Amino acid sequence: MSNTDLNALGLCVEPGAGILICGYGECKHALSVRASHVTTYLWEKHKVPLEARKNLTKSLKTLNLQNSDRAPPRNDGSPEHPLL
Ligand SMILES: [Zn+2]
Repeated sequence: MSNTDLNALGLCVEPGAGILICGYGECKHALSVRASHVTTYLWEKHKVPLEARKNLTKSLKTLNLQNSDRAPPRNDGSPEHPLL
């Protein structure tokens, strides 16, 4: 899957950080790429049809992206996710 395909789904990769960002409208949500999170997210939040999402999870694995929850600490100094 190319970046063009990701863009068609409203997704883009944050340069440098390797984090997937939802660019649907003004969403700008950083997405975890763990398991099928992204495809589930696209359906639940944006109603992206299965036809458009069917190869997404597999393709994302080839992009070697970071999980957003491993991103640098948040600006407010709050700890990482309590379950990690
Ligand atoms: Zn979104």
